[in-house]
Amino acid sequence: MQKALFLDRDGTINREVDYLSRVEDLELIPGTAERIAEAQRAGWKIVVITNQSGIARGILTEADLTDLHEALSRELSEKGASVDLYKFCPHHPDLGEPRYRKDCECRKPKPGMYLEAIAELDIDVTQSWCVGDSLRDLEAAKRAGIAKCVLVETGKGAAQRDGLAEGDMLCPDLPAAIAAILAN
Ligand SMILES: [Mg+2]
Ligand SMILES: [Zn+2]
Repeated sequence: MQKALFLDRDGTINREVDYLSRVEDLELIPGTAERIAEAQRAGWKIVVITNQSGIARGILTEADLTDLHEALSRELSEKGASVDLYKFCPHHPDLGEPRYRKDCECRKPKPGMYLEAIAELDIDVTQSWCVGDSLRDLEAAKRAGIAKCVLVETGKGAAQRDGLAEGDMLCPDLPAAIAAILAN
């Protein structure tokens, strides 16, 4: 079995912009690629778990999302880092065309994307961590059995830290979170 870092994308890996849809608006939090590379060298799988209701809302297409993830992977690769698995939820419970408008099992805080990734990569949840800028990232991870969670203060995180549960960690940003996890 493998250990993994389950990372939220918007506001955690890259700066939060409302419904990121264009590659030119993709801006990584400084130091992120270097720290991800370090984690991978230490044996961690990198899984990106992202709600993308912008697809249901008609703001971007699945092809746009593929372009964004290719750009993200390219930028990470310049520092020797990569993403082992991307999981996205394109749905919204009451917006968009029928194939995207549904009360799915994948939209965080539901645990569906985490559960799929755990099965696909044969991940040991007890050794794994979740990092996100929203409490719903942490809630979804916990429902999938990932108890070790970090809220970062980038993105929406600073406004949500009062809701942290006992035992959750608070870090300024993803590079600091990964450094703390590697030192743990
Ligand atoms: Mg986020
Ligand atoms: Zn979904």
